Amino acid sequence: MNYGGIGSVIGHELTHGFDDQGRQFDKDGNLRQWWDDSVIEKFKEKSQCLIDQYSKFYEPVSGLNVNGINTQGENIADNGGVKQSYMAYRKWVEQRGSEEPTLPGLNFTNNQLFFINWAQVWCDNTRKQSFINLITTGVHSPERFRVIGSLQNFQNFADEFGCRKNSVMNPETKCSVW
Ligand SMILES: [Zn+2]
Repeated sequence: MNYGGIGSVIGHELTHGFDDQGRQFDKDGNLRQWWDDSVIEKFKEKSQCLIDQYSKFYEPVSGLNVNGINTQGENIADNGGVKQSYMAYRKWVEQRGSEEPTLPGLNFTNNQLFFINWAQVWCDNTRKQSFINLITTGVHSPERFRVIGSLQNFQNFADEFGCRKNSVMNPETKCSVW
């Protein structure tokens, strides 16, 4: 659960160094193109997938759709972060030599608990005006779409929860920048 929560948040922050803004700065923090043009082209192609995906999310309280362009950097960070932390968790289990015991009283695997805590990080309650403010001026997607968007793209999530192919949480098109 710690890997799913704070671990994914740490992964999120690291990924910012390689999002649409972070990628433009070199290791010394100077604004400098240090990628080949072909790499930048590929990056933009992959980012566009996320832009299209998140732009389709409709937030019913405000009646607005998410702005996939304004939120792309945060979405890149969310998608990369949760994946990195999941890989780190699996690596940790591998080094440990066996799966951890499961939590008593809950009928979840440890991998499922990883994802459940990633989702719980973003539990919130938001008023209409706040949604409007967030969606029209913010760089973060509304919390529920930070969860849905990042996990729709993550095959391990669908596998762990047995999501049917082409269902909402296991779409055929999966976006992946990192
Ligand atoms: Zn961020």
